[in-house]
Amino acid sequence: MIIFTDTVIENIKEHIASHDPERGGALLGAPHTNIVSEFIYDENAITSSASYTPSKGLTNLIRQAETKNGLVYKGIIHSHPNGFNQPSAQDLIIFEENLSQNPHVPYFVAPIVTRGGDTGKNNDMDLGDDMFLTLFTAYRNTGYNGISIKKPDISICHSKRDIDIFIRSLNNPIHFENGYLKINGINHINTTIKDEGTTIEIVFPTNYPFAAPLILQGKKGNTDLLKMETIGLEWDFTTIDENKLSISLNKSTITLKG
Ligand SMILES: [Zn+2]
Repeated sequence: MIIFTDTVIENIKEHIASHDPERGGALLGAPHTNIVSEFIYDENAITSSASYTPSKGLTNLIRQAETKNGLVYKGIIHSHPNGFNQPSAQDLIIFEENLSQNPHVPYFVAPIVTRGGDTGKNNDMDLGDDMFLTLFTAYRNTGYNGISIKKPDISICHSKRDIDIFIRSLNNPIHFENGYLKINGINHINTTIKDEGTTIEIVFPTNYPFAAPLILQGKKGNTDLLKMETIGLEWDFTTIDENKLSISLNKSTITLKG
């Protein structure tokens, strides 16, 4: 399974699904995870109505994002003409080139966006307006040249939606930032909330919202995670997913002054 954050899905809708094919961009995420949490639109791609070739400039943007956020390159998403919801022969060549140019990438995430391309399978996601994302991954073959294509399940992590619901439930506007928090060398999807005296870190596990996020509270200016207090959450399985975070944070002992 490959997990996409809701922010990435929104970016894909805005920059790819709501335009004519072929358009594309890069996908990144934390190393050693199956999460895609960053999308970079490829403005200067070489495209026609039937092909998409990533630009050289995109490679630079990928390297910059890898350095800045501690993320790794996961793959390329691009759109296809109506109903053509699988990689073309040209795409397979590009996937193979990408795998050989990025030895640090274990497999290449390569979704195709098409109108009317619904296969009804678990590697499909409905993007609305009859647009669909069909997920493929490319693996290096061992022992001989070439690649293998798989169709993994796709899932979406609604961390941004759920944070927005919580922020709206507060009486006062409050400063918050969605980003990453490094714990034991691994970047986790994270939201930092700050008020006059407090910093709250909300760290999303890979199996959110099945599992509750980790909540850390510290005095403002304290960036030492070890000195922050862990806040327990009541995580109620009977609450609908989008309200779980908001309801449990509001019931918790965190204090925000706004
Ligand atoms: Zn293609």
